[in-house]
Amino acid sequence: GETSWQRELREQFPIVTAHPELAYLDSAATSQKPRAVLEAVQAYLTTSNANAGRGTYPWANRTTDLVEGTRERVKEFLRDPEPDRSAVHFTGGTTEGLRTVARDWLVPYLTDGDEILVPYADHRANLDPWLEARRLLAERGVDVRVRALPVQAVSGDYDHRRLGEVVGPRTRFVAATHVHHVYGGDMNVHRIRAAVGPDVPICLDAAQSVGHLPLGLDDPALDVDFVVFSGHKAMALPGTGAVWARNARGPAFRPAGWQGTPNTVGIVSLRAALDWLDAAGPDRIARWTAGLTTRLTDRLRHLDPYEVLGCPAGLAADSALPAAQRRHGIVTFRHRGIPSDDLGFVLYSHGFMVRADSLCQAGADEKDGAVRVSLHVYNTVEEIDRLLAVLASLT
Ligand code: PMP
Repeated sequence: GETSWQRELREQFPIVTAHPELAYLDSAATSQKPRAVLEAVQAYLTTSNANAGRGTYPWANRTTDLVEGTRERVKEFLRDPEPDRSAVHFTGGTTEGLRTVARDWLVPYLTDGDEILVPYADHRANLDPWLEARRLLAERGVDVRVRALPVQAVSGDYDHRRLGEVVGPRTRFVAATHVHHVYGGDMNVHRIRAAVGPDVPICLDAAQSVGHLPLGLDDPALDVDFVVFSGHKAMALPGTGAVWARNARGPAFRPAGWQGTPNTVGIVSLRAALDWLDAAGPDRIARWTAGLTTRLTDRLRHLDPYEVLGCPAGLAADSALPAAQRRHGIVTFRHRGIPSDDLGFVLYSHGFMVRADSLCQAGADEKDGAVRVSLHVYNTVEEIDRLLAVLASLT
């Protein structure tokens, strides 16, 4: 069943099995790496390390093939319906990817009087580049209006009923988030597509969904133009990430400065990571982490000193919580009496590694810290129950 399937996968993470007394609950920051990824890196470095390019010797050719082959592998992983038209650009992570889309694609695309819609309460990496684009354009005398995607109180979801208030004839671009890094909710990008119509390019920050959910660009509900993600949150090495560009709306995505030495080792690790994830099955991974997420959320919201962020208040204790079902491996909470950084230290004294400082949320007050538990397929029911027991003892 699922439990033995999961146990088998968990055993493929050397750092996880080497420390049974610890529980890594910070996968939204970066994931642990399965043995297959470590071995792919080792194999590459010990058999064919060279620079990419049209080499005249096999190691260089093999490196070129690995880099180009990984571009195709990314398209395949995302179930790209038109891989001949699209492009994949490797980055160091989502922050760099979003900045590259803003600087190298959005700035030349926008004209005076255009409007763009961006998230003001998601990860800061998905706000700063768009504000910077406006500033760069303003220096050239091009005035662009940046409007905030409307957000529902408490849940943090976009308020699709109010999208009509911010969409207009000059709306030329939307930046959105796939899964929120604080609340874990699916941000329902299909509603944004419905509101802006078929012609407006949408850029999706998929940092918290790639590797966690089945993510198919052949699905009409995911009609977006850019998918930006971090490889290192999806089982690959630190310093990895990619931008996928559909190249069907607006100009083609041709990022400047791609002709350097690529992060070959990182790219090799990304390819191995995508192979690993596909073999494990993103739908099964999503089901596993959803089970843990629901278990943690449902118990924690009934523990009096805790407030789970993104849970609408006033729900009867035993009522179903639709938001919880839509959370994807992320539960963020506060203890009413213990500051979050103290709570983080207490939890680590019991072996739990959680995020307990700034969550990099745009517009959030740094003093309002919270603790974030984020899960991946290597986490277990036993870890969640142990965590709940410790949290319950802190009342
Ligand atoms: N966007 C979201 C939604 C994220 O969760 C993160 C990482 N916390 C980022 C962007 C930034 O990713 P990276 O650190 O890989 O650049």
